[in-house]
Amino acid sequence: MFESVKAAQPNVVKMLENSIARDRLAHAIIFEGDKGTGKKQTALFFAARLLCENPGEAPCGSCTHCRRIINETHPNVRHISPAKQQILKDSIKALQYDFERTAVENGPKVYIIDQADTMNHYAANALLKFLEEPHPDIFGVLLTTNKQNLLSTIRSRSQILRFTSVPKNALINTLEQEGYDIELTPIAAALTNTFDAAKTLLEDEQFKPFIDAVCDLYNDATQNQSLVLSFAKITEDLLQKNDDYVRLLDLMIHYQKDVIYGKMGHYEKLVFRAHSETIAKIAAMKSLAMLKEELDMMLTLRTRLSRYINERLAFDNLMVTMERRLDHEA
Ligand SMILES: [Zn+2]
Repeated sequence: MFESVKAAQPNVVKMLENSIARDRLAHAIIFEGDKGTGKKQTALFFAARLLCENPGEAPCGSCTHCRRIINETHPNVRHISPAKQQILKDSIKALQYDFERTAVENGPKVYIIDQADTMNHYAANALLKFLEEPHPDIFGVLLTTNKQNLLSTIRSRSQILRFTSVPKNALINTLEQEGYDIELTPIAAALTNTFDAAKTLLEDEQFKPFIDAVCDLYNDATQNQSLVLSFAKITEDLLQKNDDYVRLLDLMIHYQKDVIYGKMGHYEKLVFRAHSETIAKIAAMKSLAMLKEELDMMLTLRTRLSRYINERLAFDNLMVTMERRLDHEA
């Protein structure tokens, strides 16, 4: 688990490691980033980094401290999250009380406030007071999607770490480790930026049928048949509302980019990895200029789909364009 945190947020981990090495940890650290960028896991990583019995490149993940941190049962690591969409003063007060007593174990203590921007006025002020009287061994990690929603007086006492989108390779590796389909994970990762969003896609039972439709369509494009007819047949039950056309087109855009990568010989960059054979066939049938023109047409259609248009007619026009091919080998 801790290795994947390093892969997902290398810069954040590096900054935390620097602060620890230089003994310059702030008593409050704000983790700011979108949902699904791994803020919570990184907060656990940070706590384990301070408490692990065998810290090496990363916390070991298996000592008694690490295991309790992962299971969220370590007495020195407290979790606070909103109840009824708010964090109340009582939660902050209870935390202070517990940490200031000696009932917890020796060593560093970490509190993690999930959705810290839901602290109400009283809770935020209680936390501010706590931060104004620093306790050498107590560290707070405040998780938020937008630091501007936190009190400026809290921000000014905190180290702020920004979480970026998870790198595609880290996203793919983690999803594969969690047992998701290895053919589908690169496609889900191409369409999203976060673990949560990718998982939502992979668990959506409509995801696979749309991928199959796009693959069938491109497969038909290697045959000598009308793509307008193919499109009608393949998408017959699939396309009900505007969102469906958007979903199909987003997948087609990635497939088309794969064909362009194939044309340029960059097979290592493919998103539709299981379809390199079809991709090679289409790449051989068309010039790079034709492929790019088709991609442009798809991207233009993508912006138009957000407005009201006749989706069917627009896709038929695209199919007519995609039917073209070179008379001889390019
Ligand atoms: Zn450990």
